[in-house]
Amino acid sequence: MRALVYTAPRHLIVEDYPRPNPAAGEVEIAVAAAGICGADISGFLGRSRHRTPPLILGHELVGRTPKGQRVIVDPVIGCGRCAHCRSGQKNLCPSLRLLGMDPLAGCFAEFVAVPQSQVYEIPDALDDSQAILAEPLANIVHLFRLAAPQSRFRMGIVGAGTMGSLALKMALRLGASEVLVEDVQEVRLAAARRMGATLAVNPKTDSGESRSFAGDGLDLVLDACGEEKARQRAFDLCRPGGTVVLLGMAKARSEIDIAASIRKEHRALMSFGYTTEDFRRSLDLLVAGEIDMKEWTAELPLEDGQAAFEQMAGSRGDTLKMVLRVR
Ligand SMILES: [Zn+2]
Ligand SMILES: [Zn+2]
Repeated sequence: MRALVYTAPRHLIVEDYPRPNPAAGEVEIAVAAAGICGADISGFLGRSRHRTPPLILGHELVGRTPKGQRVIVDPVIGCGRCAHCRSGQKNLCPSLRLLGMDPLAGCFAEFVAVPQSQVYEIPDALDDSQAILAEPLANIVHLFRLAAPQSRFRMGIVGAGTMGSLALKMALRLGASEVLVEDVQEVRLAAARRMGATLAVNPKTDSGESRSFAGDGLDLVLDACGEEKARQRAFDLCRPGGTVVLLGMAKARSEIDIAASIRKEHRALMSFGYTTEDFRRSLDLLVAGEIDMKEWTAELPLEDGQAAFEQMAGSRGDTLKMVLRVR
């Protein structure tokens, strides 16, 4: 089969690759299109210790089963046996596996084999680029479930990439009264404004706009970046007694002014991945047309994988989701 193979940092090659051999309980999906995720990009850049070449990256896909059903796949696979999996928290499973992460082959290929239980049929009305969002959006559904904001909440979002933008859309659907978005890229700020952000600010050039908007602080602040400054920024924007959600994982470690946050009794939440219920809810939202990112989605053929990854890795543009067309 044709596959886009990660062979070395910053190198992807379309080559002939052995077709998967589905194990018992698995089904082979003929991939139609697959989305490039931040995790794939960190793999491509050689920054992920869980992605060693040669490896087929990719975990966001839409395709068809051998019976011809049009489906998406939940690519996060728990062991199904540990206490976390049995209590519905597969995201915390110590043996968690993900498509496109060692040792599982991903979906930038003509075929991928996945457990039958991970497969969800989708309606024809849901187009490929929207269906692919079920996986990233599930992360957003999960974090809002953890944060459980009150009605009319005021929110801050630090980092307006795919995750930050989906969080903005979701916050507005959930009844946020105002949402502040911060990013260092002007194109992303412009996109955030069009998506309904109350205020979108570049912290590098901000002359106090964010601070006066935040006033005594915002009820809920999300860090969707993970750089040290961004994390601290999320705490700085949060009101006393408010909630900070840490999602971005750009840096493993960073220094935070913990004492300042203790004095403000900040509730700090960390959100990782999603459960099966979050994934289902995410798909329901997309089918219902509640979340739409078509305007910020671009598509290239699988053969242009190298160029697509380079574009996303160096992204100064307003493409928030890149989709590779496989067939
Ligand atoms: Zn993803
Ligand atoms: Zn488990």
